[in-house]
Amino acid sequence: MQLLLRSGGQQLIIDMERADDRPLTVGQYTYRPRRLAGKVRRLATKMWPDLPPTVLAERLTFEAMDTVRDTAWSDSGSFSPRSGSVVLLGRWDEDGSVGIALHELAHEMHLYHGGYDDSDGVVREAVAMLAEREAGLRRTFEREPYHSACQLVEQLESLSAFNRLSFPKRWAEVISVTSMVGLADLVNYYLDRSERLGLARWLDRLTKNIDVRDQLLARLATTSLRYSLALRRVLIKKLVRCKPETPVEQLLYVLDSIATLDRRYPNDDLEQIINFCFAPYVPQRRRLFAFGS
Ligand SMILES: [Zn+2]
Repeated sequence: MQLLLRSGGQQLIIDMERADDRPLTVGQYTYRPRRLAGKVRRLATKMWPDLPPTVLAERLTFEAMDTVRDTAWSDSGSFSPRSGSVVLLGRWDEDGSVGIALHELAHEMHLYHGGYDDSDGVVREAVAMLAEREAGLRRTFEREPYHSACQLVEQLESLSAFNRLSFPKRWAEVISVTSMVGLADLVNYYLDRSERLGLARWLDRLTKNIDVRDQLLARLATTSLRYSLALRRVLIKKLVRCKPETPVEQLLYVLDSIATLDRRYPNDDLEQIINFCFAPYVPQRRRLFAFGS
């Protein structure tokens, strides 16, 4: 881990783990570079036991400038497959900067474990957020793809069946997908497992054909791409109340219709749209009042 000090056109590179532990002040924060590097090493080797030694030695640089540029927060760190990771000091305190370093190292390990090149921006950032949150950093985001990535990771982490897994298992789950739809599918899967909504059992009764099941799950994920957990629950509960004899094409059609109506009437209550679209397929609950005879 290098520390790059820039000051008035001069620059100096320090090996953080061999540095004396004099405090370094950047902007409003003070850091102890050797202690900071020690925290990053401890966390990174615990989270990724197979972390190649060259990554920490050669591909992670902390940068400190005497004038903290007045730019967006997004500049707190960056990763490039060619040159590795840079963490800018001065944006976060020491522990926050450790989190940023773990975020950038997650991109590095995603590249190392495979899947980085094939993944969309939401998955890439979700992988990194899983790691920074493991390091204790909590951030909120307004810009995409960070916002969507953060929402989906927060949903996953609030589900007991996912959250009780060790970090390496959670990591393996998230890097196993390459698209935002895949992430939404993962959330639906762990929601079903955590709350026993019966989705897996219902699918099993619906069809033995795995391709057809995957097609239906992918459509469920697409329709619920940006749903809250509460809405996912509503959607899945409705789906599993459809009779298993219902033709799969009709179920796909219902899911499409919900997505179409949601796009067309963005201000309408989505739960009502879901109820409306499923009405012909879900047995009605016993009515309290019978109209007519
Ligand atoms: Zn990132």
